[in-house]
Amino acid sequence: MEEARAELCAYGRRAVGERYVVGSSGNLSVREGDLVAVTPSGVPLDRMAPGDCPVVDLAGKVVEGAHAPSSETPMHLALYEAAPDARAVVHTHSVFGAVVSTTRTALPAIHYNVLLFGGHDVRVAEYATYGTPELARNVRAALHGGRHAALLANHGGVTLGTDLDEAFERTRILEWLCEVYVRACGMGGPRLLSTDELADVERRMTI
Ligand code: 13P
Ligand code: ZN
Repeated sequence: MEEARAELCAYGRRAVGERYVVGSSGNLSVREGDLVAVTPSGVPLDRMAPGDCPVVDLAGKVVEGAHAPSSETPMHLALYEAAPDARAVVHTHSVFGAVVSTTRTALPAIHYNVLLFGGHDVRVAEYATYGTPELARNVRAALHGGRHAALLANHGGVTLGTDLDEAFERTRILEWLCEVYVRACGMGGPRLLSTDELADVERRMTI
């Protein structure tokens, strides 16, 4: 898992650099087979060394590393169980994602990029205390139907990918969409794309 742990450090620095996380908020993981390398709990994501990142099995038992794994490890593991193709999870407290998650039950179809997340909106998972199995269940429910992204009520966002690069890129696009939405709401409210307009884009995307 050495490469996976090094990747967590590189993307942790990016997450802080892009201001998607502040301090030790947010967490990342990479799955390889039946093992998951995850960021340590309470450690600033731009100040980790690969050896700080614990490795856990799919039941959450630490098999390597001295640090405690992220408090959101139950959520990461629940998402890997629900999405067998996923190989990375990115959870952040990005500003616009947090704003939308605090004020809405879904991010609606303001732009065709919403389709990149596997649906016509991005659902907001019901609120539960951070790090709890209940939050893991709520986020899993918000991702049902093969979604790649969800927001967490009064908290932040989460994305999945077939690698960390894809999961991180989805976080970037999600935050961009949330920012456009929040700014549009301040200008009288966005026009939403209709189901027909979205279906038209979906046809183009599969050509
Ligand atoms: P950890 O530092 O335990 O990863 O927790 C941060 C967080 O985002 C909790 O939701
Ligand atoms: Zn969090």
